[in-house]
Amino acid sequence: MSILQRVKLTLARRKLSSQKIASGSGDALEVWAENKIRTEFKRSPELRESIGRKRLGTISRSDMREFQLHRFRQQMKYVMENSYYYKKKFEAAGIRPEDIQTWDDLQKVPLTEPADLAAEPMTFICVSQSKVMRIFSTSGTTGMRKRLSYTQDDVLNIIDSISAALKTVGLTEKDTLQIMFPAVAAWDPGLMLDGACKVAGMRSVISSTADVDEQIQTMKAHETNMMIGLTSFLYRVTILAKDRYDLSSFGMKAIICSAEPLSEAMRQEMISSWGCPVLAQYGMTEMGLATSIECDQYDGLHLNDADFLVECIDPETEEHVPDGQPGELVFTSLSMKGSPLLRYRSYDLSFTMEPPCGCGFKTLGKIGKVQGRLDAQTKIGYGQKIYPLLFDEAILPISGVISYTLQLNREDFRDRLLFIIEYEGDPESIKTEVLDVLNDINELQEALKNDLIFPPEVELVPNGSVEFSPKSKTIVDNRENYDEVRV
Ligand SMILES: [Zn+2]
Repeated sequence: MSILQRVKLTLARRKLSSQKIASGSGDALEVWAENKIRTEFKRSPELRESIGRKRLGTISRSDMREFQLHRFRQQMKYVMENSYYYKKKFEAAGIRPEDIQTWDDLQKVPLTEPADLAAEPMTFICVSQSKVMRIFSTSGTTGMRKRLSYTQDDVLNIIDSISAALKTVGLTEKDTLQIMFPAVAAWDPGLMLDGACKVAGMRSVISSTADVDEQIQTMKAHETNMMIGLTSFLYRVTILAKDRYDLSSFGMKAIICSAEPLSEAMRQEMISSWGCPVLAQYGMTEMGLATSIECDQYDGLHLNDADFLVECIDPETEEHVPDGQPGELVFTSLSMKGSPLLRYRSYDLSFTMEPPCGCGFKTLGKIGKVQGRLDAQTKIGYGQKIYPLLFDEAILPISGVISYTLQLNREDFRDRLLFIIEYEGDPESIKTEVLDVLNDINELQEALKNDLIFPPEVELVPNGSVEFSPKSKTIVDNRENYDEVRV
């Protein structure tokens, strides 16, 4: 490490409040979030007025809510002054920061659509280009590419919160975290995690190979005792390795499953194989990745309420739904400065839960496990996203193709893709053309290369022999019981 890098690292560490929290303390994330409120309470007469006390003392859930509304007003003012998109949007709605005094008032603020961010990313940026430290691109729910800008403070804050979350699940300076996100394109969450560990003085190793034996060898070489990675991949490693290695002898302290839903069947399989807690994590690139992490109660994921305000709405009426009732999650970034998003629609279905939690947390709220998405996106292989639009663009332009559905099945850890094409004309030439265009789709190529799908298959049915079905039924996923199958 060069002297300059060392100086930068020292400076970065000083800025991180998670540094002051003891390693492996179970309440690290809550303490970290509460410290943010304490700092702001000292600094801001407005927050002291909102909370209505001269001394903060013990922080309650309602203090947390006041802090969130206070930060929401500040962010609203900030984006109206600095982002063309929000200035225009909020002025048109006739809404001002001071109009937001209660939780219900949030509903007056118009929602931000992912499509707007994809269409005009530059109108969201609040700082000059020279202050942007990193730009993240993401392919979103419908394949729309979105660009987010992060300042140095934004990146440090993300790293700080990840570090606090890792301490909460028990990671200390003596432990090694293995970061396992094979075949994840766009931007690499592994880099952020690795940065969080380095800055916080914890050990980590990025292992992106899809080869199960190589992953196990890396664990042995680095004495890995905590893992984080794609849920389906961690499960695959478990299933393929458990008969050849004594996984319980690795002494794992925790396994964190990220980016994909974790079913209870998968969780139980991993717990019994490794002999440690298996926790779910949920985040969004648009929010800087780290949003929530599960605790040992296995009953919902704790939110980083100091940095994010999370609401649950009815996607039709756009009104709040009560805690515990299913709805769409909507996120507001309370700390970001580069391109902060307010009331950003996730299109993810879940529900909210209030503290206290059995783990001892009293001020941080929770979300339930994400149940699914409002759109028709699904994943194959290690997480390559597929969605109707991807195939619409490839298949529908072929002459003679009228409609199609895709049936997804799983056999022997591999996805089987059967395209049922409704056609008119010469079946042989249509079939050849369809297979050709499918072979050109990157997402399928990736999965094929890793031997995670069978070569796509095409079945032709004559025009009129299939019933019309809405676009949301284009992909028929029959893999629902996949994780229930014991191998
Ligand atoms: Zn908890």
